[in-house]
Amino acid sequence: MKIGIYPGTFDPITHGHTDIITRSLRVFDKVVVAVAPNPAKHPLFNLEERVDMVKLVMKDIGQVEVVTFEGLLVDYVQRSGAHGIIRGLRAISDFEHEFQMALINRKLAKKVETVFLMPSEEYSYLSSTIIKDVATHGGSLTPFLHPDVARRLQERIRSLKS
Ligand code: ADP
Repeated sequence: MKIGIYPGTFDPITHGHTDIITRSLRVFDKVVVAVAPNPAKHPLFNLEERVDMVKLVMKDIGQVEVVTFEGLLVDYVQRSGAHGIIRGLRAISDFEHEFQMALINRKLAKKVETVFLMPSEEYSYLSSTIIKDVATHGGSLTPFLHPDVARRLQERIRSLKS
């Protein structure tokens, strides 16, 4: 069984992430979504909340598992016996950072391959960061987020404002 690890911050999970997971399942038999604590990014949601939202969005897809990991991604990939790392590539802005990470990871663990997938065009501009901006200014989240995730994001922003 071919297993792919999809790492990220998922603060929160958007339709762009979901699109990549769905596409990954055409390449891998199982996808493990690995949510990183990533304190440097100052996430709006804590690790448990982010995991919870990924689980909620993915609940009907049997071949998806959600975990957390700390430390080096390649160590986690090797420990878990997975076959590759999955990353999403949006507009060219992602390329440099992703290229650097993939090559560093290859240097650290030469047998671990990184697979890049492109989302549907409608999500190619979407990021958790921009969605948090839209939410802060009261914009509609319907095109970008699962309804329960949208509700949790609106609640979080409301509670931060008050
Ligand atoms: P990170 O902090 O590692 O960038 P993210 O949660 O922002 O974590 O993203 C995880 C992965 O999903 C990254 O490879 C990122 O490029 C990809 N991704 C995020 N949003 C989209 C999107 N709209 N379309 C395609 N890939 C995406």
